[in-house]
Amino acid sequence: MNSSHNIGCERLIVKLREGGITDERVLEAFRKVPRHLFVDNPIQAYDDVALSIGSGQTISQPTVVAQMTQLLELGKDQKILEIGTGSGFQAAILAQFSRRVYTVERHRELGDKARLRRREPGYANVTFKVGDGTCGWIQHSPFDRIIVTAGAPVTPESLSAQLTTGGIMIIPTGGRSAQELMVYKKTDGGLESQSAGQVVFVPLIGQHGWKE
Ligand code: SAM
Repeated sequence: MNSSHNIGCERLIVKLREGGITDERVLEAFRKVPRHLFVDNPIQAYDDVALSIGSGQTISQPTVVAQMTQLLELGKDQKILEIGTGSGFQAAILAQFSRRVYTVERHRELGDKARLRRREPGYANVTFKVGDGTCGWIQHSPFDRIIVTAGAPVTPESLSAQLTTGGIMIIPTGGRSAQELMVYKKTDGGLESQSAGQVVFVPLIGQHGWKE
């Protein structure tokens, strides 16, 4: 990373702290994963904004990526499922903490582009698939953590069924243009839910999501 990226990144870290990110491991992951490699136009890479990545999709706002990562309470031995690879940035952040990240993207051009970035440092433990993530990834289930980075009308039962007992799932649910960020913890007694606030995500489109 050159010095202008370092300055931009440190400025972003200050913003993340101001936004309530207290987990130092999350902040360190933002230092390690160069966001400018995941966007087409690197000029705004370290601004706290969502940016277009093509196919009508976006790389999420850094504050939101950091908040969702922190809410997952990650540990080194965990297996994570991400729905909505997009640029691959969130997957690369998750890869810093976990044993393996499985990530699914419905747009082939985005999935293929993200897969090409696998050569970046600290990104080898990510497995990519192009397909409908609303069905999860049954072959690799159950997952210790599930993160959905697109907005669903309701929480798909197909995903909660692939979460381990003791696992955490984060998913924006609600309207097509604005949602509530839901945090689920799976216990022996079922799913406990909590809202982490309002968010705006592109729609989750698929069999158990919105129709195209
Ligand atoms: N996590 C991404 C990143 O770090 O760049 C940002 C994700 S973007 C906000 C949401 C992504 O979800 C889009 O790329 C969209 O194509 C994808 N998506 C929507 N519905 C999907 C589905 N059923 N399965 C997989 N991906 C889906």
